[in-house]
Amino acid sequence: MHISRRKTKQIFVGSVPIGGGAPIAVQSMTIPHPSDVAGTVEQVRRLEQAGCELIRVAVPDQEAAAALSKIKSQMTVPLIADIHFDHRLALKAAEVVDCVRINPGNIGPWWKLMEVVKAVEDHGIPLRIGVNAGSLERHLLEKYGYPTAEALAESALMTVRALEDVGFTNMKVSLKASDVHMAIDAYWHFANQSNYPLHLGITEAGTTQTGSIKSSLGIGWLLMNGIGDTIRVSLAADPVEEVRVGFEILKSLELRHRGVNVIACPTCGRVEIDVVRMANELEQRLGHIHTPLTVSVLGCVVNGIGEGKEADIGIAGGQGVGILFKKGQLVRKVPSEELMETLVQEVEALAKEKEAEKDHAPPPQSGAIRPVEDLAHHSSLTGPTRSETSHSSKEIPVLPSVS
Ligand code: SF4
Repeated sequence: MHISRRKTKQIFVGSVPIGGGAPIAVQSMTIPHPSDVAGTVEQVRRLEQAGCELIRVAVPDQEAAAALSKIKSQMTVPLIADIHFDHRLALKAAEVVDCVRINPGNIGPWWKLMEVVKAVEDHGIPLRIGVNAGSLERHLLEKYGYPTAEALAESALMTVRALEDVGFTNMKVSLKASDVHMAIDAYWHFANQSNYPLHLGITEAGTTQTGSIKSSLGIGWLLMNGIGDTIRVSLAADPVEEVRVGFEILKSLELRHRGVNVIACPTCGRVEIDVVRMANELEQRLGHIHTPLTVSVLGCVVNGIGEGKEADIGIAGGQGVGILFKKGQLVRKVPSEELMETLVQEVEALAKEKEAEKDHAPPPQSGAIRPVEDLAHHSSLTGPTRSETSHSSKEIPVLPSVS
């Protein structure tokens, strides 16, 4: 199934393009209070290592705002400040970060939003209009009685149009709810009426298992319908899990190809090796590889090679001796106790081989969209500066139907 992505305006958060056909970027948030600079930076490092492309930090007070420059100076991916209630925090954060998120439902009167817009314009950074079902404007709650998808879309559209009226267009939008139906409907309504890039998320989704399922359904449904330009999987868990699940959603829909995709058979009465343990261990041990590779772990050789044809490389268990295969072809037999180590070494070697091939490949044609993976590996391709991105385009293409 081919996914035709909705055409949107493109903005830049730091060097990462958002919308306009750019790869869908994966975002997460740090957990410590930013005044704990060491703790925040340690989490930033782990998120960067996991492939997180945009990192958001909550800025609840002036102490947090004051810590942003120290955090930013130790990051390699763009930093987004998450602001609620106090617009003065956004003014201070805009001096440092690559994007400011505000919530129109709690930022206060119009003049405060205008001060934030002036600040982000002065610093050449975009704004995220982050609408949330839990904090809608009072007049919308009075109009609709309770949070609805229409109310969420109306809040976002009202803010976007008011900002357009003052000439500001350097923004992306989110319309989050913890109710999957409501979030889908809200994004759908907005996407049919505006062409700003969309940050997707199901808010307060839950624990790793519950939240991953809810997010996969909500974010996945929208992505399958071409909607969405960045995603965050909100989990009550280590934020690194959010990144892993985010990439799994994108890889499952073949919207991104990053890192090792471990596939494993469900096992049955023919199983000869501990597939579950090996698959889990492989995901951990191969997490440092960014090269897109599919690695297969199969319980037996009876159907193993046939079932593993789609994999770049894999193993299948046997009685005391298993096999190593590449693209469905037998490479060699391997004693069962050496299967894991052999596979890890072979995958690392294959990744290096593929990276070397990529380095010798001809450069992409002028105008082609470079995947974010490429941008991250080539420091010369850093995108426009912050000032270049301000009001980057007054032209808004006509939004095609998403149906
Ligand atoms: S690969 Fe072998 S063990 Fe795994 S499900 Fe298929 S037949 Fe069963």
